[in-house]
Amino acid sequence: MASNLVGRMRDGAVIRPKRQLAMVFDLNKCLGCHTCAMACKTQWTSGEGMDAMWWTVVNTQPGRGTPRDWEKMGGGFDASGEARSGQLPTREDFGDAWEFNHEEVFQGGKGTSVHLRPRTNPTWGPNWDEDQGGGEYPNAYYFYLPRLCNHCTHPACLEACPRSAIEKREEDGVVLLNEDRCKGYRFCAEACPYKRIYFNATRGISQKCIFCFPRLEKGVAPACARQCPGRLRFVGYRDDPNGPIWKLVDKWKVALPLHAEFGTEPNVFYVPPLAPPRHDAAGRPDRDKPRIPIEYLRSLFGDGVDQALETLRAEMEKRRRGEESELLRTLIVYRWPKDIFPDFPNDPASVEGRSA
Ligand code: SF4
Ligand code: SF4
Repeated sequence: MASNLVGRMRDGAVIRPKRQLAMVFDLNKCLGCHTCAMACKTQWTSGEGMDAMWWTVVNTQPGRGTPRDWEKMGGGFDASGEARSGQLPTREDFGDAWEFNHEEVFQGGKGTSVHLRPRTNPTWGPNWDEDQGGGEYPNAYYFYLPRLCNHCTHPACLEACPRSAIEKREEDGVVLLNEDRCKGYRFCAEACPYKRIYFNATRGISQKCIFCFPRLEKGVAPACARQCPGRLRFVGYRDDPNGPIWKLVDKWKVALPLHAEFGTEPNVFYVPPLAPPRHDAAGRPDRDKPRIPIEYLRSLFGDGVDQALETLRAEMEKRRRGEESELLRTLIVYRWPKDIFPDFPNDPASVEGRSA
C-alpha cells in the first residue's frame, strides 16, 4: 500500500495523486440486475464476518437506499472544508444477513407444506424498496443508482482515521484500508458521507471497496464493471483525453458526481436518466414534462443536470438526422471492452489468479 499523504489536507489544499482512476455509470442503461453486486460479493466479500457486506449496491431511486436513509447521515465536509459530523450506520440500517429455515424446508420431512422464509422478521434489506420509486399512476417513475466507494480525491474516511489505516494510492488514487492497522474504531464510517464502509464484527475491523486493485495491476477491469451486462460502467483515468471518462465528464459534461456538496470530490460519475413524458388526465403525453422531476435529479446531481440532459437530447436528435455523434458513440460502447475500459481490457481468465 502507499505510504504518502495523498488525499490529506496540507496548508488548506488537498494533496492530489499523480493520476486518478474514475468510474462513470450511464444510468440510461442500468437494468437493475445486480450482477455487479454479485460479481463483487463472489470475488471479495464471501469471507469470515462479511455476510452482510455489499461493497457495491444498486439502489432504486427515489428510495431510502443502502444503508437506509444514508443521505441524511451526515459526514463529509462543509463549504469551508470543515468536517461535518456524521452518523454511524448500524448493521440493521444496511440490512443484516438474514437467516432462513433451510433445515425445516430441506430436511424437516414436511414436504411442500413449509416454504423458505427468514427466521426473524427483518425490517430492512439491501433492496428492500426495490422498484417502488416515486410518483403516482400514470406518472410513476424510478431508476437504478449503482453505488460503491467513490475513491474520493479528499476522502473524509481517510481524514477521520486516527490510525492512518486508510491510504490513497499516489499512482491511481485508489483508496484502500489497511486491515493490519485498523482497530475497528469506525470513525471512517461516521465520516464517509456515502456510507460505503462496512464493519466486520467477527474480525473487529472496517472494510471497503478496493476498486479491484489486484485486477487493475494485471490490466483487468473491476469485477462489477467487467461483469455488467448493460455495459454501462466505464473505467479509466480522469486525465486521459482519449478515454471515455475525460470525454463524458470534462468534454461533454454529461457525467456528474452524486451529492458533490458532500465535499469529498468523488470520482464516480453518473450520466443522468432521461425519462418518458408525463401524461395528462386524458392520457395525452406532454413532451415538455419528463416524468422524473428535474428538481429530484438536481437534488442528486446538482444544477449541471439540466445541461447534461439537454446535451443528451440534442445529440440524440443529431443521430436521428443521420449525423455523427461522438457522445452517443462513446455511450453505446460498440467495441467492448476497448471502448469502456481502454486501460484494463484483459480477460481475467487469461491472467494469473482468480477469474471473474
Ligand atoms: S466514498 Fe467514503 S469510503 Fe469511499 S473514499 Fe469517499 S469518503 Fe472514503
Ligand atoms: S450489473 Fe450493470 S446493469 Fe446490472 S445492476 Fe449492475 S450496473 Fe446495472
